[in-house]
Amino acid sequence: MNLICQEFQPIAAIATTPTAANLLQPICQTLGATLWIPESCQKIVNLSLNTQVYTDSLKNHLVNIWQEYNAIIFCLASGAVVRLISPLLQDKYRDPAVVVVDEAGKFVISLCSGHQGGADKLSNVLSRLLNATPVITGASHNLGLPGIDILGKPFGWQRGEGNWNQVSAVVARGETVQVLQEVGSTLWQQHLPEQHPFDFDFSEIGERSPTPKARIWISFAHRQFLPDSDLPEVQWHPRVLWVGVGCERGTSKKLIATGIEEIFRAHHLAAGAIAGIATINIKADEIGLVEFCQERNLPLRTFSGELLNCVEVPNPSNIVAVEVGTSSVAEAAAILGARQEQNEPEKDFHGWQDADFDGWQDTDFHGYTDDSFFQIQKGKKQQQNTDIHRYTDDSFSLLQQGENILKSSTNLLVSKQIFRLEGEPGAMTIAVALAETEYTGRTGKLLLIGTGPGKLNQMTSAAKTAVSYADVVIGYSLYIDLIQPLFNPGQIVEKMPITQERQRAERAIELANFGLTVAVVSSGDCGIYGMAGLVLEQLRAKGWDGKIPAVEVFPGVSALQSAASRVGAPLMHDFCAISLSDLLTPWEVIEKRLIAAAMADFVVAIYNPKSQNRTEQLVKAVNIFLEYRQPENPVAIVRSAYRENEDVTLTSLGELLEVSVDMLTVILIGNQSTGIYNNWMITPRGYLG
Ligand code: SAH
Repeated sequence: MNLICQEFQPIAAIATTPTAANLLQPICQTLGATLWIPESCQKIVNLSLNTQVYTDSLKNHLVNIWQEYNAIIFCLASGAVVRLISPLLQDKYRDPAVVVVDEAGKFVISLCSGHQGGADKLSNVLSRLLNATPVITGASHNLGLPGIDILGKPFGWQRGEGNWNQVSAVVARGETVQVLQEVGSTLWQQHLPEQHPFDFDFSEIGERSPTPKARIWISFAHRQFLPDSDLPEVQWHPRVLWVGVGCERGTSKKLIATGIEEIFRAHHLAAGAIAGIATINIKADEIGLVEFCQERNLPLRTFSGELLNCVEVPNPSNIVAVEVGTSSVAEAAAILGARQEQNEPEKDFHGWQDADFDGWQDTDFHGYTDDSFFQIQKGKKQQQNTDIHRYTDDSFSLLQQGENILKSSTNLLVSKQIFRLEGEPGAMTIAVALAETEYTGRTGKLLLIGTGPGKLNQMTSAAKTAVSYADVVIGYSLYIDLIQPLFNPGQIVEKMPITQERQRAERAIELANFGLTVAVVSSGDCGIYGMAGLVLEQLRAKGWDGKIPAVEVFPGVSALQSAASRVGAPLMHDFCAISLSDLLTPWEVIEKRLIAAAMADFVVAIYNPKSQNRTEQLVKAVNIFLEYRQPENPVAIVRSAYRENEDVTLTSLGELLEVSVDMLTVILIGNQSTGIYNNWMITPRGYLG
């Protein structure tokens, strides 16, 4: 659960009665939360490491801890909580997530900061842990939609300007919201419910109905909304801009910050869209630059002079070449920064080549308003394959002069600008390049989850929590369908066919490298003939450092345990599992193991006994066993344990082949001491009699 709880830390929980404290204490241990109890409960409650006592009134205690925690869980009447927190509330961007649990542990209410503070998500996590019902009252959640104000959170997008409440209200009313997405992952668009209010196809604007009542811009540009437009609008900024910086030694942080700010303002670029700063490696210790990056939480990508020198740029400089060994720092670094694939790109992203930029050269970029976007859209239809570098004045004139700018410079958005600031030491050059894929700034996670045999009540609460916490869930379609009730609005759920295990693992790694939290589900236990091994194997093959993406494995009840539970206690003595599938294991190896298990008197769980094309293996396996065991040796055949068409047959080795078996069946072959008693299969614990 470690990876799941990180996001909400630090968490406090408050219980004012022993019942409440006993309910919350184990949850707090799992979440790594501090449980606060009043002095009156001190003697009754088992004090553990994460439990602390407050001596003041709860009202005063809350004043002390309000700023300290990102989330506060109350086990208290919701009315009392409302009164307690009301004097402390500021706004949804600053308040901690507030969640209320009833003393019976039946409901988890997301009370405050549902979206921004993550209270909705925490309520989901808690309710899975408590087996309770989450009470989430936000309109978008109940429509099965991602919240407008958290739409880009998984992708690390930054919220720009806009009227967030009004746009959300339009969504709540079910009215049409126009989406203008120029950059950033479009994954969120592909996993919306059938009935959603978003209109992505605005190419025939004016001719379609219903008329949009709100608009979402997803862009790197800083839009200037038309003053007379009464359409509420919001802006999301995927982090796609790499700012190349060259500077003199000792250039101040202030100069760097002001320079970037001014260039961005002049070009109508959004500061929120900055992915990071790129420069030459000898500037890796430039104090002003390093401090600027730290303050803004931006990555600093550095490149050697040799590498930078290989990049074709519009404005090379001989003077710079003599000084640092490359004719361009800012432009070349911006281009390389934008091209470095830290987050592995995925195929569905809007890259600029196929996105909406063609035709910008016709439009005045600096005066870019809503209307100009529509012109662009129209222009897009007519003019394909236009290089983006045309939209900086300099590169445009270079093109006009017929200069051949190599493809490497085509992602340059703002060519080199020199900046100085009166009274501040140093000088800098700035260039801005556009990356194809956004930088999410998030460390990806892979949650490898066993979903148990089928029924949701056979799945561990940790596994359920992990599924409902993930940004993306990937699995074989049959298993995805079985866990459908666990999914939340906005989650990206990718079903894949049964045979595509490797592709599933690849896809999961790709999305985790991008920065998403990806749940990979397998039936039973994910580490027993499941996806956990495949994912880890492929990570290893890619030179994984064991940390990024972070991995956590969530065990599940395996088919052999499920089958055993349906017939009694056949696995009470030494047992093993053998899969008869020779797709990944040569038959000789399987045969050797069957012989060894039969000889050594193991109880054996046979997995993958048969498929449509693979029928001979089971016959061979039974014949091997008959060489070492009696025909009366008890056998249980369990098909679809804990699923709708469950079927259980008790039989013997001699008659096994007469029972119908398919690929959803597991076969348990008892040992010599296993017996069947009143339809219960029991293997004695020992051999002593
Ligand atoms: N990871 C799974 C095994 C996947 S291999 C686990 O731990 O259970 C797939 C095989 O598992 C099937 O061919 C079948 O032999 C067995 N199996 C999976 N679910 C089952 C179920 N509900 N009932 C019986 N057998 C099952």
